Amino acid sequence: MVLILGGTAEARRLAGELVAAGASVLTSLAGRVARPRLPPGDVRIGGFGGCEAFAQWLRSVDVRAVVDATHPFAERISASAAWACPAAGVPLLRLERPGWRERPGERWRWVPDLPAAAQAIPSGARVFLTTGRQGISAFAAVSDAWFLVRCVQAPDPPLPARHELLLARGPYALEGEGELLDAHRIDLLITKDSGGAHTEPKLDAARERGVPVVVVRRPPRPEVPTVATVREARTWAIAQALTQGR
Ligand code: NAP
Repeated sequence: MVLILGGTAEARRLAGELVAAGASVLTSLAGRVARPRLPPGDVRIGGFGGCEAFAQWLRSVDVRAVVDATHPFAERISASAAWACPAAGVPLLRLERPGWRERPGERWRWVPDLPAAAQAIPSGARVFLTTGRQGISAFAAVSDAWFLVRCVQAPDPPLPARHELLLARGPYALEGEGELLDAHRIDLLITKDSGGAHTEPKLDAARERGVPVVVVRRPPRPEVPTVATVREARTWAIAQALTQGR
């Protein structure tokens, strides 16, 4: 069986491709979202209980390979996998989509984390905040700006005093993103460097309108063999399953 640590579009695609290739696949989800998009194959939901418990779990099931296809900002589960897989003797591959790059005509400011993003907001700004549900509290003390907060699921308080909540799930299209920026007179976009095509149109819409962007850098990752595409991860996982099945 191949274990995919999921929660991303790439993880779902990989599960689909491996199932289509005849592999036995178990996708693990954190359980953060009430109605997650489920991938093909088997699914388990919930944390493992830390790295040691994860290693123990790996020893108790017939997992031939683990693909960590979690989001680039899901630091803890990736660190846990980087510890648990070698401890349990299970090969681990990281599938991570490339980050976004600033293009000509864009006005990006890179910051190391969400508190730094909050500090980068000019007084009176109208902000489109797309950093996700977790960590919104970093913006709660910003009282001299207005926020359009977009998340899949309602965030826990505290939230910024002046905000509107928009519950939505990507992928998003350029036209809709442009309409949002215009309708709310947005003059600053804040995003994580999530990468990928699903949420990229907001950057295109900001570029078209000359709206500056604050981009939160990815956190450091553990040193694990890494690929950038589902195709490479699929090839690796099938090779691992076959090699170890002999
Ligand atoms: P995190 O901080 O790295 O994880 C916190 C804890 O949640 C982990 O220690 C682990 O619990 C559990 N966990 C996380 N991902 C898991 C998985 N795939 N399977 C089983 N347990 C998991 O992660 P996060 O930032 O809260 O993200 C949670 C999930 O949402 C991830 O799977 C990620 O792919 C997805 N996601 C995250 C973001 C983001 O911006 N962070 C965006 C989109 C999707 P234990 O220690 O108990 O094992």
